[in-house]
Amino acid sequence: MNIKFTPNRTAKILLVIVLFIIIAIAYKKRKKLKKTAMNTINYIKQKTWDIYSNRRIDTLHPDIRAKTKEFIIRAEKELGIKLRVTSALRTWQEQNRLYKKGRSVSGKIVTNAKAGESYHNYGLAFDVVEIKNGKALWNNPNWQKIGNLGKSLGFEWGGDWKRFKDKPHFQKRFGKHHTTLAKLYKSGQRKGNYVLFS
Ligand SMILES: [Zn+2]
Repeated sequence: MNIKFTPNRTAKILLVIVLFIIIAIAYKKRKKLKKTAMNTINYIKQKTWDIYSNRRIDTLHPDIRAKTKEFIIRAEKELGIKLRVTSALRTWQEQNRLYKKGRSVSGKIVTNAKAGESYHNYGLAFDVVEIKNGKALWNNPNWQKIGNLGKSLGFEWGGDWKRFKDKPHFQKRFGKHHTTLAKLYKSGQRKGNYVLFS
């Protein structure tokens, strides 16, 4: 049997174009991924302007250290704002001690979070403040700019919270509520203070 095959020229051209577009998108995506990976590697090796911040960042969950460094470095470079990390990992013992203040121990109440209820307890949260002329600016017209930069790096900003605004506070939940993190922590799915996600 003789089948006469007449290739459709238009279809062929279209196929070539579609293939070309797919290859172009894949190439661009790969380039972007490579760039992101490079940046992350560079930031983890870099130091911020501030020795205290460097030390505190090192107590954070390994999965957010690079982004936190990037945050502090870019705030200085791009906004001219020198941020200091004032608080990072807070262990369960430390959180318990804080919670007792103003309750079973004298003093003012400083937190409403019990051990395991704060993202600080997993090294997934940190607090920052701008340092200018050696002073910490807690009342700062720059908070919104600082918040926006942190959010562009994937952090949730306490300044966006409705009930209790916590402008110095940034955190990354990785889609996990603190009750889930507490379960993982208690079940031992962790390395020291850091919960393992998988
Ligand atoms: Zn905080």
